[in-house]
Amino acid sequence: MLWYPYTQMKHVNELPKMVSGEGAIMHLEDGRSLIDGISSWWSVIHGYNHPALNAALAEQAGKFAHVMLGGMTHSPALDLAAALVRITPAGLNHVFFSDSGSIGVEVGLKMAIQYWKNIGHQGKTRIVSLKNGYHGDTFKAMEVSDDSDFTRSYSDVLHRGFVVEIPAGGFDAALDTIQPAINQLEDLLKQHHDQIAAFIVEPIVQCAGGFHIYSPLYLQAARELCTKYNVLLVFDEVATGFGRTGKLFAAEYAAVTPDIMIVGKALTAGYMGHAATLAIAAIYDSFLGENYEKALMHGPTFMANPLACAVALRGIQLIEEEHYLEKIARINTIIREKFSTLTSASIIDKRVIGAIGALELEDASLLTGFKTFAMDHGVWLRPIGNILYLMPPYIISEQELLTIIDVMRKWLER
Ligand SMILES: *Cc1c(COP(=O)(O)O)cnc(C)c1O
Repeated sequence: MLWYPYTQMKHVNELPKMVSGEGAIMHLEDGRSLIDGISSWWSVIHGYNHPALNAALAEQAGKFAHVMLGGMTHSPALDLAAALVRITPAGLNHVFFSDSGSIGVEVGLKMAIQYWKNIGHQGKTRIVSLKNGYHGDTFKAMEVSDDSDFTRSYSDVLHRGFVVEIPAGGFDAALDTIQPAINQLEDLLKQHHDQIAAFIVEPIVQCAGGFHIYSPLYLQAARELCTKYNVLLVFDEVATGFGRTGKLFAAEYAAVTPDIMIVGKALTAGYMGHAATLAIAAIYDSFLGENYEKALMHGPTFMANPLACAVALRGIQLIEEEHYLEKIARINTIIREKFSTLTSASIIDKRVIGAIGALELEDASLLTGFKTFAMDHGVWLRPIGNILYLMPPYIISEQELLTIIDVMRKWLER
């Protein structure tokens, strides 16, 4: 029997079964159709069954579906690496592929820890992360994620680093509002920098940890402090990358280059799992040497899978050719407008950025039964705790988007 993710299996009865999809629509076996409000865990940004992506996949499959990247190279990997270097913040010039966001984070942290050893600084092995952060489900990724339902059963085996507060006041916070968080980071780095390899954050928006949004000024301060105290800055853009926050990458809001950046999820548009960990030249160069001692000893079997690379490359072209950032701005305007008319007393906060809209409710129990309610109204949404949110595919029609928000409204007005 199939074992489902983040699920108390005791309570699983019959799950809806998807049989096909098109655009933002998921068709179910029972004849119902649902508008996907969350892009299948934030990855299906071009919608389902996209003809151009299908064609890219088929074309590559007609040549070869996979070859090991150890001692052998191929154009899809080289071309995607070049495209990622071109579209990510200037200076991230080296690309390491892996098979999922969690592994991309693992690779980034391995790079960070080994970098300091490679240049002769022993003991810089701990990682600083933000409260409410989420960086994946593998062990090191859990260690840098905040304590939560995702990590609780393993707390006694996790080697935690340091956790700092996220800055208050949201995206538009004034500098003095975020100053306490900056001071906390500086105090920590000042005191413990000789033990710290890196500071990892989800830039601008923490997604799975509750859709907290914070100021780009904090990222600028973090960049300066990390440089000042010899700590690497790592941006986990697995959720925020590829336009989700309204910029191609959230890092652009702060106009800073992290030392390491991880992308995943939307990278391959939901066609298959893949991720990329990008690094600046100083990190890459520290791994050069005469033998394996300094090399990066990591190599997932399916890294740079040609099918994944071909789909990712075509996806990046679509984002550029079809002006996705304009689509995302239009989605943002509609979410803002419609959210402003939601008046339920159970809403504590409304947070909107890019193609993300999140409603923080007083209590998770207020969302019991919501998923079924949404399905009965033709919409697929899956709240996280007390957060009711949407992250639609960018190709969603205005009518579909309005339907999703209307379902949220109906539930809150019940
Ligand atoms: C989803 C997510 C991950 C983990 O990615 P997987 O592909 O599920 O392993 C890591 N970081 C962030 C910010 C994520 O949202």
